[in-house]
Amino acid sequence: MIVVMKVKATAKEISDVIARIKSDGYEAHLSEGEERTIIGVVGESPTPLREENYATMDGVDKVVRISVPYKLASRQFHPSDSLVPLNGAQMGGNKVLVIAGPCSVESREQIIETACAVKEAGATALRGGAFKPRTSPYSFQGHGEKGLQWMAEARERTGLPVVTEVMDPALVPLVCQYADVLQIGARNMQNFALLNAVGESQHTILLKRGMSSTVEDLLMSAEYILAHGNKRVMLCERGIRTFEKATRNTFDLNAIPVLKALTHLPVLADPSHAVGLWEYVESVSRSAVAAGADGLIIEVHPKPDEALSDGRQSLKPDRFKSLMQQVRRVAEAVDRTA
Ligand code: PEP
Ligand code: MN
Repeated sequence: MIVVMKVKATAKEISDVIARIKSDGYEAHLSEGEERTIIGVVGESPTPLREENYATMDGVDKVVRISVPYKLASRQFHPSDSLVPLNGAQMGGNKVLVIAGPCSVESREQIIETACAVKEAGATALRGGAFKPRTSPYSFQGHGEKGLQWMAEARERTGLPVVTEVMDPALVPLVCQYADVLQIGARNMQNFALLNAVGESQHTILLKRGMSSTVEDLLMSAEYILAHGNKRVMLCERGIRTFEKATRNTFDLNAIPVLKALTHLPVLADPSHAVGLWEYVESVSRSAVAAGADGLIIEVHPKPDEALSDGRQSLKPDRFKSLMQQVRRVAEAVDRTA
């Protein structure tokens, strides 16, 4: 249920509604829009929620039942787009922001070289994995904390904030020390202990869609993070598993406008993991921006042939530069910038 306050509701009227929600045994989450405040009522309580008890309170415009199971993530609760600050810009705003970098942080030189190249091409943030979720236990697992240190050094050199994956709830405090954005990978989208831990961290989160998860599953996972009062959540479509074998995954282009309609959270696309082949990354990136994606996350490697992970889908820096130019043109065509 959400309680929509009147445009001119006073602070006292708002706090009275919150007090009532708490005395009924629920949690109150505030969405303060430019015009009005919306209060989300969430949680479980033996006291049934009676709409009329709230609808008659001073300052209340209306009470709306939210029919979808995700509440805080829904557009009903927060009608305007949520903006997530990133490097002086805002993900979810008019400018399409691009996060780029290698799949894995492989060496100090590799991450610094890549960071300088993507920065020059116009990227807003640097990606790179230090803790890697690999299908095989024998594949390169990442350099761990050393990798995080190299990324932090690359940030110092370029000013680019760092986006990196965390896989273990116990490592959230460590990764928070180095990273600006914690990535939850596709394989961990429903690791609820991890979602709770990153929710509590209050760090900015990039939540990727699980490869066999529905849009609703993704939004329910976002809800876990939001339920901790952490509002800085970005979603990412990264391709799903289908019968199609020509590409690594199947990019669900539909998910972009569908998510934009259902949620206020910024929506990114990861064409690199979606197609898995660098030669298709540019066209899928263009389509994602045309469909309304707020941002892209792109794998870039100076020497893809020597990459320790995902070389086949990684763009060389000059290709990435050309991609950025294309993204700018498509963004303009849909009344945005990049
Ligand atoms: C990655 O970003 O390198 C990654 C492993 O992505 P995903 O979790 O989407 O597979
Ligand atoms: Mn990768």
